[in-house]
Amino acid sequence: MYTTSETLFEKARQVIPGGVNSPVRAFKGVGGTPVFMKNAKGAYMNDADGNRYIDYINSWGPMILGHAYDPVVKAIQEYATYSTSFGAPTEMETKVAELIVSMVPNIDMVRMVNSGTEACMSALRLARGYTGRNKFIKFEGNYHGHADAFLVNAGSGVATLDIQAVPGVTKSVAEDTLSVPYNNLPAVEQLVAEQGRDIAAIIVEPVAGNMGCILPQPGFLEGLRSICDANGILLIFDEVMTGFRLARGGAQELLGIKADLVTFGKIIGGGMPVGAFAGRKELMEHIAPVGKVYQAGTLSGNPIAMIAGYTLLHTLNENPVIYQQLDEKANYLVNGLREALGAAGVVHQINHLGSMMSVHFAEYPIVDFSAASGANNELFRRFFHGMLERGVYLPPSAFESWFLSNALTTEDLDFTINAAKATMQAIK
Ligand code: PMP
Repeated sequence: MYTTSETLFEKARQVIPGGVNSPVRAFKGVGGTPVFMKNAKGAYMNDADGNRYIDYINSWGPMILGHAYDPVVKAIQEYATYSTSFGAPTEMETKVAELIVSMVPNIDMVRMVNSGTEACMSALRLARGYTGRNKFIKFEGNYHGHADAFLVNAGSGVATLDIQAVPGVTKSVAEDTLSVPYNNLPAVEQLVAEQGRDIAAIIVEPVAGNMGCILPQPGFLEGLRSICDANGILLIFDEVMTGFRLARGGAQELLGIKADLVTFGKIIGGGMPVGAFAGRKELMEHIAPVGKVYQAGTLSGNPIAMIAGYTLLHTLNENPVIYQQLDEKANYLVNGLREALGAAGVVHQINHLGSMMSVHFAEYPIVDFSAASGANNELFRRFFHGMLERGVYLPPSAFESWFLSNALTTEDLDFTINAAKATMQAIK
């Protein structure tokens, strides 16, 4: 059934470390051979062996309207004929920036980069350059890309592979990264009381998606905001996952909390490699060439990436009903899965907000990284493979969020719920 994938994986491993260009794809958390994809349309992906899957990863977020969304594909085709890169400014960059500024609360300016990693790395540099301070606070199990400073107690693949300390990240860099448990305001207060004058920023996933999906507890983000205000610290919302997904204006809009700097990725590029960071003019004008905080990119603002992102964002902006539909679909799925798992007598927790969700097999609420780590990973592994065999493609790690697309139909959701029932039956 997976023979072509197996052959392709074997070949890939000869020339690509681990056979993949990003670790989580290797199925290390769940075992088995990663499935090599061939094409996808709407809610479905087809692998190299011709198996079809309902997709709950959606390229880890960008495909919010499903794969190969026609308007995005057409726009890319047209723009590709103009040239795939100029290395000079184009009008579309301004149009995208204007659109983003109009959608996201509390920002005046945007700088485009090529990935979420670059976005977070650059936002942190800006915060350090602006405040003249070196340290920053991050949360255990949050992931802000693979820049050195963020690889301390990180989520996502770092957590899946159980890498406690990343070789290559120097001690001196790691010393400036202060890390505390998610949702633990007293721990932040204590750190700030001790070292506040050296702390440039607090960076947080306003809804965490890199240790499964974990919601901020009431008062957590509000508390971070007031700690930052009282201590001259900048609050960075990493909205690489949540941006344009939880609402048009992301978590800032949905949860009603203002950040000083915001980072984006995924949806902002419509599936092309794009990231961005944004903030108030007064802050953003510390970036070169206006200010001295240097940041640059040969392919930044790439015309194909810009038109793909613009087309997708424009659709989301014009059709707010999409968010309502996504919420309805997520609720339907969550309720169906709760019922299916409950009926099978499986202890579980499903966290979700909007179209982000995850399933942990545990009897206690999953509120931080240590709770997520304590869940039954063996059962998750069997659940994942049971679903895969039945044509449902879930994230291959419990330390990842599921992302729904609006291409999903009620039939797809029912199919998924039935697959969960059948999987649990088979596991029994
Ligand atoms: N921040 C968050 C919240 C993310 O989820 C990710 C990637 N999953 C990143 C940053 C890094 O983005 P990229 O993989 O595009 O570098």
